[in-house]
Amino acid sequence: MPFAVTHVLTSIICIDLYRDYFTKHKKHFTLFTILVAGIAGLLPDIDISLSWLLSKLGITASWLAHRTITHTPIFALLFLIPGLILWYNKKHKLATLFLVATFGILLHIFLDMVLSPEGSIMLLWPFSTADFSLGLLSGNVLGAYAALDAILLLAWLTHEEIKHKIKDFI
Ligand SMILES: [Zn+2]
Repeated sequence: MPFAVTHVLTSIICIDLYRDYFTKHKKHFTLFTILVAGIAGLLPDIDISLSWLLSKLGITASWLAHRTITHTPIFALLFLIPGLILWYNKKHKLATLFLVATFGILLHIFLDMVLSPEGSIMLLWPFSTADFSLGLLSGNVLGAYAALDAILLLAWLTHEEIKHKIKDFI
């Protein structure tokens, strides 16, 4: 799977670019929204820490195996549904946070599917254990992941410097 930092970065960058160029609701996007984007981008991998924690407590949670429940659209729905309800109840700022979280989770699943040589996202779990993978990278991918992070970070920092003089983040 891609590095944790890749998941955080891609989600933050997408939401930041969306805020800069596409949204008609710029005022709903704050620095906190960007933080939520970063956390949500990594959130599906919480299965790793949760099952580690449970195993330390002597509990085996096979339903929490890596890349099952938290790597499905069902997990994203847990955020999408409250997001939509809040939006229609005119709680736009809070709704934006849930919708951003939904996006971060879906992006994570997509990246795992595209960039993991071992593939295997069980998208339809628990209904089916069929593996989905595009497996664009294969073999020893750690160097590629590291390069990807460096390129992403540099490109984004350059964008921020040109667009905002990084003033948003000070
Ligand atoms: Zn993952």
